[in-house]
Parts: sequence; C-alpha cells; structure tokens
Amino acid sequence: MESRATKQQTVQQVAMDTTSQSYFQIELERRRTSLEEATVANVSDTSLRQLLKSVDEALSRLKTGTFGICETCHDSIEADRLLCNPLLRFCLDHLSTAEQRALENDLMLAAGIQRGLLPRENWTAGNWQARYHYEPASQVSGDYFDLIETEDSFLFLLGDVSGKGVAASMLMSHLHATFRSLAGQNLPLQELLGHANRLFCESTTAGQYVTLVVGRAWHDGRVEYASAGHLPLLHVSRSGINSKKATGVPMGMFCTAEFPVCHLQLETGDSLFLYTDGLSEIFDTRGDEYGLARVESLIAKHSAKSPEQMLSACLSEIRDFTAGAKRTDDLTLLVMRHTN
Ligand SMILES: [Zn+2]
Repeated sequence: MESRATKQQTVQQVAMDTTSQSYFQIELERRRTSLEEATVANVSDTSLRQLLKSVDEALSRLKTGTFGICETCHDSIEADRLLCNPLLRFCLDHLSTAEQRALENDLMLAAGIQRGLLPRENWTAGNWQARYHYEPASQVSGDYFDLIETEDSFLFLLGDVSGKGVAASMLMSHLHATFRSLAGQNLPLQELLGHANRLFCESTTAGQYVTLVVGRAWHDGRVEYASAGHLPLLHVSRSGINSKKATGVPMGMFCTAEFPVCHLQLETGDSLFLYTDGLSEIFDTRGDEYGLARVESLIAKHSAKSPEQMLSACLSEIRDFTAGAKRTDDLTLLVMRHTN
C-alpha cells in the first residue's frame, strides 16, 4: 500500500530520514555487541569476524552519510531490503549474479509460504460463501487476508501493510500469526483489535502500519466490523450498494488507538465486498486514477452475479482500465455472500 504521493519517495526515504538513521545506528550497534560476544566464545570462527567487519563498515557509512547508497549506481538501496538487512551495499539492479540467484530462490520460497497461509478455495461456513483473489505485484505480497472459523461465527480480515516487497510480506505474516493466536480467545472485536494493535506497535519500527478491516459474521447474517483506516467496505444488497467508511486509524499508528465496531444485518443473497488499493488505485494510460466511485459502480453493475463472476468482472475491468500495464500494487479482492 502506498499513496500516490509517497510512491516516488518511499525508496529514498530510509536513507534520508533521521529517525531511520538512528534506528539503523541502534540496530547495527546491537548486532555489533552480539557479534563481539560470540567472537570471544568462538575465537577461531572467521565468519563471525567477517560479519563484525561488515557491521563496522556499515556504521562508518552511517557516519559519512553514504549508508543506504548503492556503491555502483549511487542511487538509494530499496528501503524494504535495507530494513531487512542493514549491511547491504548494492541496489537490486547491481547485485552479483550469485546474489541475484540466491535472492530469487529466497523469494520463491517466501511466496510459497505466503500462499500456504491463505484460506482454502471455495470457502463456505454455515450460510456463508467466500471467494477471493489474492495476487502479489511481485513474488510476495504486503496484503493480508484471512478467514478464521470460530464456534458459531467466523472472522474475516483483509488489510494492506505499508510498503511493499519482502519487508511488507514479513509484516503480513506477523499479522497472520497475531490474529490466528488471538482468535482462539473469543474476544469481543474491539478488544481483539486493541490487543493486535498494541502487539503490532510494539514489534514494528516507526512508520510501519496496516490498514485493515476486521469483522465477525454469524450464520444468521449478523455482521460486526471495524475498519482501521482501510478503504470502504461495500454492503451489496437488493436495494443497492452501501459504502462503509473506516471507523478508526490504521493499526500500528498509535498504541492506544481504539477501533469502534459497527453492525450490519445481511439478508439472504446480500454480499460484502472488500478489496485493497490494487483495485481502487490503478491508473489508466492518461494517468487517471480508477477511484472509489468506479469501484462502487463496478460492483453495483455485477451485484446479481455469483461471487466468482463478480471477481472475474473486477479482474477484466482492471485489465481494460490499465490497458494491460504491469501492476505495481498487490491486489486482494474478497466477496462474502450470505446464502440460505
Ligand atoms: Zn545500484
């Protein structure tokens, strides 16, 4: 997830920002201390000494202002990669062939793990049917999506982690684990989100957050939800589309944030439609954004169709609107229908 304004600057952000600089300083010094301790215990281990040397070099790059700058092209190293590995000296375009191959292998493995976290296809629970489309812009996605069945209801969660690529996908798996472990405790929705938000705040660095819709649906069509700064959720019924705006700020922004819960009653045949900005923030060849109004009319136009057909209508709309251009944002679409 990246707003239009931040799309261009994200990559350079880490190298410039003083908060990030002090984050890396602390992080590198912490690693240095651990390495020194390990070196004392394993005097003959040359790999530890080599790592120590790399940490010292990174610290001296911080001092001279060259930290986060690619040594070949002198452009910024990708922010998400640097967060994962502050010892990096080259941008993605200037890795050695061996490094590129290792990275591709790692990403393939990560993509497989991420796919394994998704709910089963053709998902049904009680009087509910859910169909989804989950598509990373590159190998791994920063979109978060899960369906968790509980005794008489189920939880639906769909969100978008700030940034993209590997760092965003790591946060996404972190969220997955957090909500999976909290879900078993049958907490009221507001409490569930409060706990998850505090855990997220405590375990991430400044500037990392997630927009997210968390809801619970019962077999009789009752639904409650809270939206932490996420795009409007659409309630699709015979009488039309009802757009439901966010009820709180994104998760991870404030440790003490509260997330008010709203209630809905779905009739048989009604659906809920949730999505990430991979749908609403696409651009046509003239640079015009697709936007929320178009999302609403698209869903209204196809509301009588089956959930599968609604999803394929969205996908063909995206292809037509962007004239087949390569997508830059992760995409997740979810249709949940209350059936009889
Ligand atoms: Zn470079």
